[in-house]
Amino acid sequence: MPHTAELAYGQLKNYIGGAWTDCPEAELLDVPNPATGETLARVPLSTSGALDAAVAAAAEAYDGWRRTAVPRRARILFRYQQLLVAHWDELARLITLENGKSYAEAQGEVQRGIECVEFAAGAPTLMMGEQLPDIATGIESGMYRYPLGVVGGITPFNFPMMVPCWMFPLAIACGNTFILKPSERTPILACRLAELLAEAGLPDGVFNLVHGAHDVVNGLLEHEGVQAISFVGSQPVAEHVYKTAAAHGKRVQALAGAKNHSIVMPDADLDAAVTNIMGAAYGSAGERCMAAAVVVAVGDVAEPLVARLREAANALTIGDGLADGVFLGPVIRAEHKARTLGYIEQGVAEGAALVRDGRADAAASGAGYFVGPTLFDHVRPDMTIWREELFAPVLAVVRAADLTEAIGIANASEFANGACLYTDSARAVRQFREEIDAGMLGINLGVPAPMAFFPFSGYKKSFYGDLHANGKDGVAFYTRKKMVTARY
Ligand code: NAD
Repeated sequence: MPHTAELAYGQLKNYIGGAWTDCPEAELLDVPNPATGETLARVPLSTSGALDAAVAAAAEAYDGWRRTAVPRRARILFRYQQLLVAHWDELARLITLENGKSYAEAQGEVQRGIECVEFAAGAPTLMMGEQLPDIATGIESGMYRYPLGVVGGITPFNFPMMVPCWMFPLAIACGNTFILKPSERTPILACRLAELLAEAGLPDGVFNLVHGAHDVVNGLLEHEGVQAISFVGSQPVAEHVYKTAAAHGKRVQALAGAKNHSIVMPDADLDAAVTNIMGAAYGSAGERCMAAAVVVAVGDVAEPLVARLREAANALTIGDGLADGVFLGPVIRAEHKARTLGYIEQGVAEGAALVRDGRADAAASGAGYFVGPTLFDHVRPDMTIWREELFAPVLAVVRAADLTEAIGIANASEFANGACLYTDSARAVRQFREEIDAGMLGINLGVPAPMAFFPFSGYKKSFYGDLHANGKDGVAFYTRKKMVTARY
């Protein structure tokens, strides 16, 4: 059975050159369901031998794949899209099982992944070059796009489907062959993505999956057979990936951490703002690079806003993401829960006002890794809970006198991924757009994550590289250009 992985109750395998293979010398890591602590699977922390085999398989497949006509490559992605749609519920369930986010959020994540495949299936148009017939008398010039070769993708735990789908569909549509190193904390869904690719008719070796942790990452960064690296994960690792891969002559895009600010103006529709902020701060247990981690309350909106945020947080249902009506699931691991509780203690010690304590929720003392929605008021930029990315259901409210001060607070962050403004004023929107430091802006909405046909990323310590993920940037990242100037 070359195209079958053991899912959910067994030992996961690597997918190399079209075959599911064991890595006998690999250490095995348990993959628990964060809502229950029960082991779902064991993932191999593969060694360099498995990575070398994957690079060799990808290199062998490359020549045939890059010569496969672009519309034929696209047709496989059309089939893949249909398979993903057919398996939507199953994929969403798997995401909730291994990540913990609510089933509704997981359904949305599957949609975001499918949209990336739909975008990539436009490869015949996306890969077109440009020509000018007369750059001088009787001389023409044309730009042609070609794939790079073998490229690697390294992904985080928080979007087991969407983030890999930012990478491999477009990379392979452009004619590259691909090696995915998914998060060792959410490795199961990646096996399903590989199985469905095989079912869609992707030739062996075009997509390869190597499970593991640091060793596989570092192997990819240094491997001379790998041309480019797409990375999404935390800031220190993104910086390491960027520097190491660049030092080894590779093209790199490394999307990193975040501390997104949502500014609420006195003229905002408070009901809508509170609903949006609930979703953005506590949805996916705050484990989103686009999470609203800080609310900046401007002027006299602070008192009513904080009261309503607390009221809305009290109404959220906490529990296993597969249960009906659950909004807030667990964080990913017991260690991450302990780290979050540490941040809450530190917030109190540094003088922030703990308005709602998620440690007191009943779920927080159960078997899963739950932390209830936590709300701090009177947070200041000298506090750790303002400065660092917590990646947890903890929302900090900072107070500012006016929009200029609010933007100044947001811009003081070393991150610059997303930012939102809640207002009814066109003048405020313009000032925000012109002055805020962030790559993805939202006006009167909670999570301004761009669609697959636009670029996704921020800057400062939220991004290392030049070309962002997705959209035309993604096509440029996964292709190299040749200029042909000709006289006939
Ligand atoms: P992480 O950095 O711990 O892991 C990401 C990947 O890097 C994993 O595949 C992991 O195996 C590998 N890795 C971890 N430590 C490593 C090390 N020391 N050396 C080499 N490889 C290593 O990130 P995570 O906790 O899985 O994901 C959460 C982070 O990802 C958050 O910081 C979040 O903001 C960020 N993120 C950013 C975006 C974005 O678009 N900017 C999107 C999603 C997640």
